Amino acid sequence: FELERIGVHESVETVFPPSELVDYLADDLVEVAVIGDDPDEIAACDAVVTFEHRDAYLEVDWVHSIQAGVDRFPFDEFEAEGVVLTNSTGIHDRWVGETVAGYLLSFARRLHTAVANQQERRWDQPDWNEGFTLPGTTACVLGTGTLGSGVAEVLGSLGVRVTGVRRSAEPVPGFEEIYATEDLLEAVGDADFVIVTLPLTEETRHLVDADVFEAMREDAYFVNVGRGPVVDESALIDALETDSIAGAALDVFETEPLPEESPLWDMDEVIVTPHCAAFTEDYFRAVGDIVRENVERLESGEPFHNRVV
Ligand code: NDP
Repeated sequence: FELERIGVHESVETVFPPSELVDYLADDLVEVAVIGDDPDEIAACDAVVTFEHRDAYLEVDWVHSIQAGVDRFPFDEFEAEGVVLTNSTGIHDRWVGETVAGYLLSFARRLHTAVANQQERRWDQPDWNEGFTLPGTTACVLGTGTLGSGVAEVLGSLGVRVTGVRRSAEPVPGFEEIYATEDLLEAVGDADFVIVTLPLTEETRHLVDADVFEAMREDAYFVNVGRGPVVDESALIDALETDSIAGAALDVFETEPLPEESPLWDMDEVIVTPHCAAFTEDYFRAVGDIVRENVERLESGEPFHNRVV
């Protein structure tokens, strides 16, 4: 298809101002503009860069998701209409890795408790045996792709021994040991931290269930930076309430925003972040580079980078 006009949908505002990406992509070859929900405005574009899905995207030739996760897009309908879907996997490695390191350091050095106490102007030192250090601990990372590898790289540099779980069980650099999905319960059994970086698919929905929390050590912490529905959230809440695990750091939830009545908000050993583990001021540039590369590939007849549909 011919590419003359790219629309940057206003929903990218969740992660960065759309105008930043428009300015970054602006050149003489292709017209780039911020667009809203007007179906005619969408249909006037050949390609759309977006955070959310809109039905009107079935009228364009190419849709690029600024996220790695594309579980909200209707793959079948895109395929039927011949719409190309690309995603932003490959850019979130170190960013999410640093957020995960932050969670682990908070738990180890009790920083989340100090911040909670500070809100109440309370000077309250932790017990002598509450703090620990990361070197020598083990993290089991579910998913060993971009996110999982970035987590492994950052945690490895902090002295954490990192193991991984993936479908194939083939080795991955940065992971000391890799387990296949079938061996999940064995994989999580001796870990101090269990960290989910999985995409949401039919196979991964509720992959982390009561059996997984049961298999985890009682002093182990759970982290989810993948997608909320990969985890059975009521089984997680149950595991936290019955002290069958030590705590959790959660960036993604079954329902987002996390409902006000969720018990997760009030738990001392739970860190809640609002789906922002990958946010950085450089996000729009990294997305822009993928879009630009694909514009060039389209012009030279090469296959799209990060094509999903
Ligand atoms: P990748 O495609 O690079 O990696 C996905 C990994 O998941 C692969 O290792 C793959 O295994 C593994 N996997 C998939 N299905 C299964 C399964 N059934 N059992 C075990 N392993 C499985 O994706 P990214 O790392 O870029 O992103 C992963 C997800 O993280 C995204 O889909 C998105 O939902 C989420 N995300 C969240 C962010 C946040 O802000 N919190 C930011 C960015 C992404 P194999 O290697 O064997 O194929």
